[in-house]
Amino acid sequence: MTELSNMSLTQMDQASLFHPVTSIHDIEVNGPQIYTSAQGVEVTRDTGQTLLDMGAGLWCVNVGYGRPELVQAGAEAMQKLSFQHFFGGASAEPTIRLADRLLGLFRDTVPGSDMARVFFGNSGSDANDTAMKLVIYYNNLRGKPAKKKIIARQGAYHGLTLASGSLTGIEGYHTAFDLPIKGVLHTSCPHHFAFAQPGESEAAFTDRLIVELEEMIAREGADTIAAFIAEPVMGTGGVLLPPEGYFARVQQVLDRHDILLIADEVITGFGRTGQWFGCGTYGLRPDIVSLAKGLTSAYFPMSASIISNRMWEVFAGASEERGAIMHGFTYSGHPVGAAVALANLDVIEREGMVENAARLAPVLLESLREATQGNPHVGDVRGVGLMAGVEFAGFRAGGTPHKIVAKHAMQHGVLTRGLPYRPVTSFSPPLCVTEAEIVEAGKRYARALAAAMPELD
Ligand code: PLP
Repeated sequence: MTELSNMSLTQMDQASLFHPVTSIHDIEVNGPQIYTSAQGVEVTRDTGQTLLDMGAGLWCVNVGYGRPELVQAGAEAMQKLSFQHFFGGASAEPTIRLADRLLGLFRDTVPGSDMARVFFGNSGSDANDTAMKLVIYYNNLRGKPAKKKIIARQGAYHGLTLASGSLTGIEGYHTAFDLPIKGVLHTSCPHHFAFAQPGESEAAFTDRLIVELEEMIAREGADTIAAFIAEPVMGTGGVLLPPEGYFARVQQVLDRHDILLIADEVITGFGRTGQWFGCGTYGLRPDIVSLAKGLTSAYFPMSASIISNRMWEVFAGASEERGAIMHGFTYSGHPVGAAVALANLDVIEREGMVENAARLAPVLLESLREATQGNPHVGDVRGVGLMAGVEFAGFRAGGTPHKIVAKHAMQHGVLTRGLPYRPVTSFSPPLCVTEAEIVEAGKRYARALAAAMPELD
């Protein structure tokens, strides 16, 4: 028994827990929000309040909460083979089947893709660290030791480890951590609504971004740039959809300069955009795909990196001479995670959740437009599949209307997130959400917005 045990849970949290991405001051003043259970799209707090989770956790609980199929698959796998590492050629059935299934899914749903192998990790951040390391390794094997820099984008979110946090292009995550590390560049954010010049069309905006990218490559020297990393839709940045023609043009530039493309599908993978992968939605032909979140619907921490044939051929070609690729983690390929992922994919397929995301996309947009219609502080409502954002505009400098509204939304029974880059509240419900739940969430959001108005003016 520690002396903490007589405290309330709130006090114990305040006295012992170091929360990620949380203001210490805020926890000291307001305490934590403690959740006790969840089912489908609804989460319950220790206060008894139930809320519609229009964020699916952190864009991750794709099949919704409390699915018995995933629970059972995890329990059975844990009983049968609680752990197996994959170092030195060790292997296990669920992970073999998952790698095969991911390759098949990607091949079948992303035209023109040419992927060879799947590497497993534990989180989106480590998947992007893996991508960065493999890109370096690839160019060392090819005898191009100077070709190592990675271009990311302002407003990008790729994780928070030293490497992935450097790829992230949001200043708040760099300040006082001495990030980014060397070798990471950030090109302009492709967000037309906020960064286009007056009267600039989407196509003209894309032209300008491509010129900037070309100039950056010329300035640094193409022989120093190894890869370009992009989320097909920028999530944490503010649900930023690529402007017209953007990825096709970027791809041409990369091809011309022998630069690899890393697609960060940590959010967009597994149905979020209304297709299985954002690469399919927007025509990307990546060399590495980072996956996490929806891979297991967050029931188990697991990531996957799908590697292209052109990279694999270089790795395999050098293998006899080089020996083992000295990269991997204790939990790489965890058989329990793989079993949960397989059950998760079964549920997504059997219940047509990717199709559900595509079908309900207009309903989500319409209900947000209705909720925000005529509001003088709302500048844009946008989205694709079941990811959408409401961007605020025309508020006083230094204001945080999106955070104020998100707080009110919580009080009104709907979870949305106030994002850190653009003043946006985001919506990314579980893919099992129903039309009625979306409409109800829209009504609650409208009431929250009305309640927040005195603080926004
Ligand atoms: N990449 C993207 C696009 C993400 O949205 C996130 C997390 O939100 C990450 C990477 C990092 O994933 P994790 O938090 O699992 O490390």
